[in-house]
Amino acid sequence: MNGSESDNNEKQIIFNISKEENFPDWYTEICRVAELVDIRYGVKGFTPFLPWSFMSMDIMFDIYERTLKGKKHLPMLFPTVIPEGNLTKEADHVEGFTPQVFWIKDIGEGKELEEPLALRPTSETAIYPLYSLWVRSWRDLPMKRYQKCSVFRSEVKSTRPFLRGREFLWIESHNVFATHEEGKAQVMEDLETTQEVVTGEYGIPVMIFRRTQWDKFPGGVDTYAADTLMPDGKVIQLPSTHDLGDNFARAFDITYLDESNEDVYAFQTCYGPAVSRIYGAMISIHGDDKGLRLPFKIAPYQVVIIPIFTEKTEKKVMDYCHGIESRLTKTAIRVHLDDCDQTPGWKYNYWEMKGVPVRVEAGPRDIKGEKAVVFRRDTMKRESVSVDELSDRVKELGKAIDDNLRKIAESKFEDLVVDAETIGQVDEALNRGKIARIEFCTTQMAGFACAEHIKDQTGGEIRGTRIDIEEEPTSVCLVCGKPAEEIVYIARSY
Ligand SMILES: [Zn+2]
Repeated sequence: MNGSESDNNEKQIIFNISKEENFPDWYTEICRVAELVDIRYGVKGFTPFLPWSFMSMDIMFDIYERTLKGKKHLPMLFPTVIPEGNLTKEADHVEGFTPQVFWIKDIGEGKELEEPLALRPTSETAIYPLYSLWVRSWRDLPMKRYQKCSVFRSEVKSTRPFLRGREFLWIESHNVFATHEEGKAQVMEDLETTQEVVTGEYGIPVMIFRRTQWDKFPGGVDTYAADTLMPDGKVIQLPSTHDLGDNFARAFDITYLDESNEDVYAFQTCYGPAVSRIYGAMISIHGDDKGLRLPFKIAPYQVVIIPIFTEKTEKKVMDYCHGIESRLTKTAIRVHLDDCDQTPGWKYNYWEMKGVPVRVEAGPRDIKGEKAVVFRRDTMKRESVSVDELSDRVKELGKAIDDNLRKIAESKFEDLVVDAETIGQVDEALNRGKIARIEFCTTQMAGFACAEHIKDQTGGEIRGTRIDIEEEPTSVCLVCGKPAEEIVYIARSY
């Protein structure tokens, strides 16, 4: 290896941007340097995902799908296109989604389609016409299905890789029930699933809100959504779940014969974890100034092995490292032996920046003691471990790393909520990266004007009311002065 070239490479690979002070730069640079996306595709909002991000998203999908299947949802896959006539059947839904829809209107050299086709922005209107055929009697219910796919929305806000794209990857689950109570219970189950997977498996803490009536899913009755906090103090919406009541059943004629043989409307819910967006939040929340810190559960490589040798010891060290590699692989650990032509120092920096949770270093001295040096990315600490105990120790460390990353993320939620009694106090809280809690007239449509006023004055949006705790208002709406019916939370958001 040429010395000066190696110096250059070494410089390039050291990542050092303060995430807290300069999150936008941190995010843009880590997406490029860690080879997560290639932004040169040339179509606004459409971004190729590269192996290092896609391998993790694949694992994240696996975890989500396993959890949904465990709760009796079955997978299926509908076509990407939706005929215009179906998309426009539910009036509120059309109004909410039409401005964002990409249309296919002709084929080849301008041959017009009989009916324009929409690229699905979400699949209610693709799936429900067939649910109307599939659901016949109470025996068919509940019907719990989901699909893993990409959806297309021409976002007006500025796009960012993973966090806001015009095509994104998600799971959408669509469920049909005999009663509204069962539908509401499904919504609660979805919220538990969010906590199990997003917090329990990916280490991302969330706050769950019932959204206001003006911010709910177009066409639904109620929307519940999980928000998490990004390093710049703004919140981002992660999975949301919707109680559709029988609104869509009425629009799409989804009825069933009940036990007394009467034809009645079914009730529906849908749930949409956007895995690519969760990935963007995950890397933002867990990363540090040196780059990514991937949870052990979702890292493409959980362990990277770095051999340390001179020309004389190369063969012996490489054999030793291959031995370690096969031991770890046998115990179902995802491992990569880095035998590329770079210095160990370069490799350390590179894999630290890429966020690999555990590094194993081995050289001639380690061979003598049948040991290896184990390094954990989250705390940057090293220890020496005997090769016999390596698999067990790596798995222990994996758990410890995931716990630690989750706890660090959760600590940002402490003292996050600040009570505010005036618009000035709301603004001041948001400027400090906090979430403001206020007494508010109503989250029914009548409260919309007050919400707009708050947004104009502070840039903050009402995220909704908490459903995990009872909160009783005792005062008046800080905007209109009417008696407050609700306690709501205000944050700046993505
Ligand atoms: Zn008000």
